[in-house]
Amino acid sequence: MSQKRISDNKNMTPKERNLLKGAIRRVFSRSDIRRAVIEASRIEHTEPSRPRVTKWSLCGTCKKFIPTYLMVADHISPLIPVDTKLEDMTWDTVIDNTWCEKNNLMAICKDCHKIKTKSENKLRRRSKNGSK
Ligand SMILES: [Zn+2]
Repeated sequence: MSQKRISDNKNMTPKERNLLKGAIRRVFSRSDIRRAVIEASRIEHTEPSRPRVTKWSLCGTCKKFIPTYLMVADHISPLIPVDTKLEDMTWDTVIDNTWCEKNNLMAICKDCHKIKTKSENKLRRRSKNGSK
């Protein structure tokens, strides 16, 4: 049977694909595994200049004390591999990569996450240009 299924990534529009990716991310942001990774980054710390911040974490990358609410559970090996396009992945793989093994997750601060994402996107562009 060759019926087109919308849940087949290839049949989606880029907009639908990005919306679904965002939805998967939002569900992950409320998951137990993410919470556990962020919780494990908590550290006993106070800063007199910021008395209202009671929860602190240690960033796994820059090793700075960061308010816990600014921490991100980073996928060490990115959930969309740098040499792969989202439209070439099945949603099962995207979900499996998102809810990955705990040892592929690291609590890092938003600034470090931004830097890592930027360098991954650079590799993505390079891999895109290299393949054609
Ligand atoms: Zn950091």
